[in-house]
Amino acid sequence: MAVFLAEPYKIKVVEPIKVTTREYREQAIKEAGYNMFRLKSEDVYVDTLTDSGTNAMSAEQWSALMHGDEAYAGAASYYRLIAAAKDIFGYGFFQPVHQGRAAEKVLFPSFLEKGKYAIANLFFDTTRAHVELAGARCLECCNPEAADTQLKAPFKGNMDVEKLEKIITEKGPENIGMVVMTITNNSAGGQPVSLQNMRDTAAICQKYHIHLNIDAARFAENAMFVKLREPECKDMSIKEITRAFFDLADTFTMSAKKDAIVNMGGLIGVKDEEAPYILKIKANCISFEGFYTYGGLNGRDLDAMAVGLYEGMDENWLRYRLATMEYFGERLDEYGIPYQSPAGGHGIFLDAAKFYPQIPYNEFPGQVLSIELYKECGLRGCDIGSFMIGNDPDTGKQLKSINEFTRLAIPRRVYTQTHYDMVIEAINEVWKKRETIKRGYRITWEPPILRHFQATLEPIE
Ligand SMILES: *Cc1c(COP(=O)(O)O)cnc(C)c1O
Repeated sequence: MAVFLAEPYKIKVVEPIKVTTREYREQAIKEAGYNMFRLKSEDVYVDTLTDSGTNAMSAEQWSALMHGDEAYAGAASYYRLIAAAKDIFGYGFFQPVHQGRAAEKVLFPSFLEKGKYAIANLFFDTTRAHVELAGARCLECCNPEAADTQLKAPFKGNMDVEKLEKIITEKGPENIGMVVMTITNNSAGGQPVSLQNMRDTAAICQKYHIHLNIDAARFAENAMFVKLREPECKDMSIKEITRAFFDLADTFTMSAKKDAIVNMGGLIGVKDEEAPYILKIKANCISFEGFYTYGGLNGRDLDAMAVGLYEGMDENWLRYRLATMEYFGERLDEYGIPYQSPAGGHGIFLDAAKFYPQIPYNEFPGQVLSIELYKECGLRGCDIGSFMIGNDPDTGKQLKSINEFTRLAIPRRVYTQTHYDMVIEAINEVWKKRETIKRGYRITWEPPILRHFQATLEPIE
């Protein structure tokens, strides 16, 4: 039987949640055009739309806010953040920015331009967008194990290093602007990358003199997976494992809204404090974000991030976090409910195509399941499938996603074990009724790009 670990925190401030009926929710989702992003958050009972910026800050973080120095230049908050980042990552230069995509926007143009490629174990969607905005193109080489949702392998997020080297030699090393290692691999379902795979990837980058950047949003969850699953690392601390990863790269871009447990923030790190492109980073930051000692954040936000970086690496916290995800997965296994397994670090990716084989990709099984879960218990997840992927930009035709997922991304320190149990029971109710759903949804309006955030839908009768 699945076992859970109790929360390593207690509650000081509470936020009431509105309790609604099924009739109420049926009306609310209809008014929202059957789009989870158009729902009001107050109509949601358990919100797993994203784990990004939805974290609960600690008493230490809230008190750190009061120390915030709001000076335009040279704020004490900036120096506290730099000291924490230096201690954790050991790099020579850091640039705070307002979130992860800002880090990408500020850093990438130093390495990418028209005619160049970036290669990743898989790109997060904004990372892909910023590679393309810099004029370059994306190539991906993810461990093929990630495509098989039923295969329980320890490091499904790994880079396929053979394919990486093959692509580099095919395209010419001089045309590869950077390699990006995403830890954990978000698009593969929050699956971890092993230290050995990081070493192998770094060795290839060194051999061909290619810049290696870590996309570090979930670096701490990845380190905990490594500690639990990679035998040579079992006696290392989270900080030692983190150092081992970051020592192998040249730079990192980080969304602090994930493992640094803040509501807003991001960070760029550069190992070599004399790297010539630091000038470009500062210049871009001043143009797009703000002066380089605040990077578009309030002084108090820099302090919350400095504290959150350490809290996010706390081993008791991480053990609980991953145990919760494992428990969630094991309970779904007991009910025979299909998901990307083993469970990732930050979310459960339900395999909606296996819930609803009767519903074709262009009627959006992942969206159907999101809507059924909302109606059942007020849970908000979202489609990671054909509805999200959208249309081919050249032909305008609906693309078919490899997987049709409904993602439940778990906010940090927000919900309790009882919420998870309630959600698991509700998923099972929806699973038992899966054959009663005959048709999916059609789009009634959509914007030209990133349509899933705004489009409206209606059920096909
Ligand atoms: C969230 C995320 C980003 C982008 O960060 P934002 O803070 O949302 O701008 C980049 N890469 C990965 C892997 C992420 O999860």
